Amino acid sequence: MRIPFIVGNWKMNKTADEALQFIDDVSEHLPDPKKIQSAIAAPALFLQSMAQKAQDTPLDIIGENCFYEQFGAYTGETSPTALKKIGVPYVILGHSERRLYFHESDEMINKKVFAAIDAGLKPIVCCDETMGREAAGDTIHWVVSQIIADLRGLSDDQVGQISVAYEPSWAIGTGKSASADQAEEGCYLIRQTIADVYSDELADKIRVLYGGSVSPDNIDELMAKPNIDGVLVGNASLDAEAFIKLANFQ
Ligand code: PGA
Repeated sequence: MRIPFIVGNWKMNKTADEALQFIDDVSEHLPDPKKIQSAIAAPALFLQSMAQKAQDTPLDIIGENCFYEQFGAYTGETSPTALKKIGVPYVILGHSERRLYFHESDEMINKKVFAAIDAGLKPIVCCDETMGREAAGDTIHWVVSQIIADLRGLSDDQVGQISVAYEPSWAIGTGKSASADQAEEGCYLIRQTIADVYSDELADKIRVLYGGSVSPDNIDELMAKPNIDGVLVGNASLDAEAFIKLANFQ
C-alpha cells in the first residue's frame, strides 16, 4: 500500500517567524500520517527550528535541495548529513527550478541522489517536461530518459528509498495544471520505466507524485487516479488554510 503523500514546496518564500506560525496554524488539522502523509519543504535556514516545532505533529519538515558531498569546501551548499541530523527525513532533488536557474544536470542530480541516500535521507526526485518538448510531442522520451539518468546505478534497495515527482514545467506556477488524465499518463510512464529498469515489485512500491498548479480545487480529481500517489504543491502550500484542505483531500 502506497500512503498518499502531500508535499508543500515553499521555494524561497516566508520568513522564519512566518514559517513557525504556519506550523501552529496547521498542525492540529492534519490527517493521521499512517493514512495520509503531509510534509513541507522549506528553505534550509528554517529547517532546524521548524523540525523542532513540528516534532510531535503529523507534519514532516523536509529539504528543498542538498549537495552531492557530505562535507567540505563548498561555500553556500547544504550537507545531506547535516540535514538528516536535524530531523529532516526527505529532500527534494532535481526540481525544474534547480535545473533551469542553477544548471543542475541529470549527472549532478544522480550524484545528489546517491549522497542523500548515503546520509539516510529519502529523495523526492523530480522530472520536468519543458514546453518545447511537450509541444514537439517528445514528452515520453524526455521524461523516461531523465528518470533513467537521475537514478542511474542505484541498487534495488536504494531505489526503494525514493519517490518521484512528475512536474511538467509548463504547469509549474502558471495556474495551468495538467489535466488529471495528462498527470496520470506522466506518472504511469514513470512507474513503467521503473518496472522496466528495475522490477514490477519496486514500481509498485514507489510513490509517484504529480506537481504543477495543484490546488484545493483540483486535488481530488488528481488523487483519484491510480498512478498518482501524491502531489508536490508550490503556491497553494504557502497558505495554511489551503494546505489543510490539500492534506485532507477526499
Ligand atoms: P506550483 O509549483 O504548485 O506553484 O505550480 C509546483 C512545484 O514547483 O513543485
